[in-house]
Amino acid sequence: MVRVLVCDRIDEEGLNLLRGKGFQVDVKLGLPPEELEQTVGGYDVLLVRGKTKVTRRVLEAGKGSLKLVVRVGVGLDNVDVEAARQLGIQVENTPEATVSSVAELTIGLMLAVARRIPEADRTVKGGGWSKEKFMGVGLRGKTLGVIGLGRIGCEVARIARAMGMRVIFYDIVDRGLESREIGCEPVVSLEKLLAESDVVTIHVPLAPDTYHMIGRRELNLMKPTAILVNTSRGAVIDEQALLEALKTGRLGGAGLDVFEEEPPKNLELLNLPNVVCTPHIGAQTVEAQKEASLLA
Ligand code: NAD
Repeated sequence: MVRVLVCDRIDEEGLNLLRGKGFQVDVKLGLPPEELEQTVGGYDVLLVRGKTKVTRRVLEAGKGSLKLVVRVGVGLDNVDVEAARQLGIQVENTPEATVSSVAELTIGLMLAVARRIPEADRTVKGGGWSKEKFMGVGLRGKTLGVIGLGRIGCEVARIARAMGMRVIFYDIVDRGLESREIGCEPVVSLEKLLAESDVVTIHVPLAPDTYHMIGRRELNLMKPTAILVNTSRGAVIDEQALLEALKTGRLGGAGLDVFEEEPPKNLELLNLPNVVCTPHIGAQTVEAQKEASLLA
């Protein structure tokens, strides 16, 4: 019998599928690292989301039985992929499952910053009604710059096009086919994208070449009214530089779902009136979690 160890909370639908096929599924949530090392031996498959750290020690403890690690979600930041490769353990994730949920949140953050929805909500709930204070900026006809026209970037571009926005993008890979289908234009450089966009949205993976891809120099290239949205990975932006740009009026606003450190410690950035933030909930929809669990 195939034995599956589930260490993070995963939608039951996928687990029931496994149980129905005769797999043994053991759900043991929130195991401390040493306990996970003691438990993993004897299991064929390890299912995790982002919380459990699948370190070399964990993988070595599973040696002999462990054949597959599935990260239910996107990104393999919490799995030591190199160690798994050396030990002959396959690693998979389910990036397709969360595309629309992240894209929809991205659009939500863009609208929330442009129309200051959270601040207006707090005002009305506090008994206020200051219409004049909430003069927003419209998005129809404005330019959205997408950094990374991959799965999520494409979906964001599609929705933005339907909202009447002009969409430009920058990617290191040729995305001619996708961009023609969506109706968005490539730009020759990141610098050009930053200078031309009213809203910039980031959809690249975190890698050595994307770490702090948006720093002081890049923020200085943006329009002072521009909005920056990040639902990719926190460390793609230099948060200190972002804080300075927002505080000094070098940038219009920011919508952030991801942070360099999570939960974030830099409360000064989060508490700025022109910043809207969410606790890394890009993939947190019923539909996305169900789909990720079934795919896994
Ligand atoms: P993807 O691999 O489909 O697309 C990434 C795109 O970025 C590719 O087209 C790639 O060519 C491009 N790219 C890579 N390096 C680049 C660079 N230096 N400059 C320009 N373009 C570059 O990835 P995806 O599935 O669309 O995910 C995008 C991001 O969203 C990832 O960082 C992922 O971790 C993140 N994500 C966040 C959440 C969340 O909860 N907020 C959920 C899922 C995914």
